[in-house]
Amino acid sequence: MHIAKPQHRPPQDMYCPMLQICNGCTHGICKFCDIYTGEPFEASPMEEILEDIDEIAQTATALTRRIYLTGGNPFALPNAHLVKIFDAVEERIPTVHSYGGFCRITDIARKTDEELAELASRGVNDLAIGAESGHDGILEFMRKGQTAADLVEQGQRLHAAGIDFTFFYLAGLGGDGMGQENALASARAFSAAQPNTILIVTLTPTTTWPLAKDIAEGTWAPASEVDTAREIRTFIEHLECKSSIICSHDSDVVRFNGLLPGDKQKMLDLMDNRIPKINESAARLMREMIHKATF
Ligand code: SF4
Repeated sequence: MHIAKPQHRPPQDMYCPMLQICNGCTHGICKFCDIYTGEPFEASPMEEILEDIDEIAQTATALTRRIYLTGGNPFALPNAHLVKIFDAVEERIPTVHSYGGFCRITDIARKTDEELAELASRGVNDLAIGAESGHDGILEFMRKGQTAADLVEQGQRLHAAGIDFTFFYLAGLGGDGMGQENALASARAFSAAQPNTILIVTLTPTTTWPLAKDIAEGTWAPASEVDTAREIRTFIEHLECKSSIICSHDSDVVRFNGLLPGDKQKMLDLMDNRIPKINESAARLMREMIHKATF
């Protein structure tokens, strides 16, 4: 398989085959990411894609129904190209009728309503979107290239097209002292966008991110583990949406899953019980183990 980089997937897609159809990120400048720094975005050669589909077909079973497209932000590719790939997959693996993958909010914005409807009709569903935050100042500082209003507008367009989506929330992105403000602004934007799933991941800064320069210059400092957990609690408390919450990434100090709105109180009670027991140095050690080269 032509998989150029370690790939990140939401847990619900951990077990479907990955197909790399591009490499690089069309944006590539977020301060909290170094996966594609300096690499241009380019579509994978069709011969490579066909070879990989043939390889997946060799072990495919009747349960091989979904393919996870990878390589940065594959939905930045034009629909005509994506449809060609879907045709090639389904010719070789007829059980496949669903496609997911990472997607920037700007990839959605660049597609017309008709193009989104076409993707939905071809089985594109449950897109994984790095929303990260709904706080405009934080999104701008982190060079994410999207605003809270973009999250809401494009989320609503995806719903209108019939495409479910997962929003990532990066707890701690605002840094020291910004957790509560970030939580409240993000809860507002996420509630308006109504993602089907919200995946909470706690920021673990590394020395290889552009953010390391801000840390060295004193223009950004990480929040404490307790403050970040309190931020997550406030975020959950103020969410008004029907979403599945997954807060069980390796980086999350307090881990839980639940369904909003029904499980909200249970999730808050769990956090109220766990937050006073957080050990800052043990949690920091856990971050060292995740990335090795943490701040
Ligand atoms: S959009 Fe995603 S992959 Fe691209 S630079 Fe930002 S975080 Fe990295």
